[in-house]
Amino acid sequence: MLVVQKYGGSSVGDAERLRRVARRVVATARAGRRVVVVVSAMGRTTDELHALARAVVTQPPRRELDMLLTAGERISMALLSMAVQELGVAAISLTGSQSGIITDENHTEATIVDVRPRRILESLDAGRVVIVAGYQGVSRTLEVTTLGRGGSDTTAIALAAALRADLCEICSDVDGVYTADPRVVPDARRLEAIGYDDMLALARGGARVLAASAVETAARGGVAFYARATEGEGEGTRVGAGAPPVVAVAARCDGAVTVLGADAAALAAALGGVDVRDATSDGRVATAFVDPTRVDEAQRRLHRRFVAPNG
Ligand code: ADP
Ligand code: ASP
Ligand code: MG
Repeated sequence: MLVVQKYGGSSVGDAERLRRVARRVVATARAGRRVVVVVSAMGRTTDELHALARAVVTQPPRRELDMLLTAGERISMALLSMAVQELGVAAISLTGSQSGIITDENHTEATIVDVRPRRILESLDAGRVVIVAGYQGVSRTLEVTTLGRGGSDTTAIALAAALRADLCEICSDVDGVYTADPRVVPDARRLEAIGYDDMLALARGGARVLAASAVETAARGGVAFYARATEGEGEGTRVGAGAPPVVAVAARCDGAVTVLGADAAALAAALGGVDVRDATSDGRVATAFVDPTRVDEAQRRLHRRFVAPNG
């Protein structure tokens, strides 16, 4: 049985958290599974590297930015591999390039065009846990690229598809996909399951728990996966075909608010006191633009109106 596990930035944010992730990985390996781990950069490293580049120059060239940003995931992959090995389980860290993640040359927003996981398979066959740097790849002309913010999710799904993994877990600081951002809407509820189209609409609408490109990759490859908490034993949320339609809301910092399960007229009506700049509706997904400083308030109001009127 082959498992792909992805751990996000907050899950590997410091030495103690890295050691905790190592214990979770080792538990999976000791249960007799072949394990491929994808890691994000530690904590806010990617933001800090962006800020560093902008402290040096006003407009960092995108090629060099990719060289810089990929260093973040290199740090966490190496540290996690050390921590797993210290627990007595053989492990090896590999960059995106070494893992065979082939992309186009669209620096900072590259798309995976092929996965050639020969090195990963050899390492698994040698009995090692393989720890892959997320969010990065290499072009056919050997240029190092990154996959856009949140792109470690995409690395994990692409590997799960290429390796025909039996299980893919995207592990984070939240125990699944909720009906709204649980940090903004305290009575948001965890969803048991969600279909690809609904999840894609939420991700595009700003639910950063899963990167939109990861959901697209999963839908294309028919990869069902779980959004789960790094800590604890919960089932999380299954993302895949066959889930019933959900009612949920999402918001983006540019002021877009999205509702699944309502039309544009109902959305505009619900936002009464808020300034609606534009409202569109595509079937059961409606998006409006509000003043960006008021997206949290709008998300709470829409959740109360459409998801939990009696909550
Ligand atoms: P990671 O670092 O593990 O990739 P992210 O910070 O990218 O984690 O995503 C997890 C965060 O997504 C949560 O802490 C939560 O605040 C936010 N989030 C936004 N919308 C949702 C939602 N609908 N369900 C769950 N989490 C959400
Ligand atoms: N480290 C990258 C980011 O912050 C990729 C990821 O976390 O998935 O966007
Ligand atoms: Mg993320």
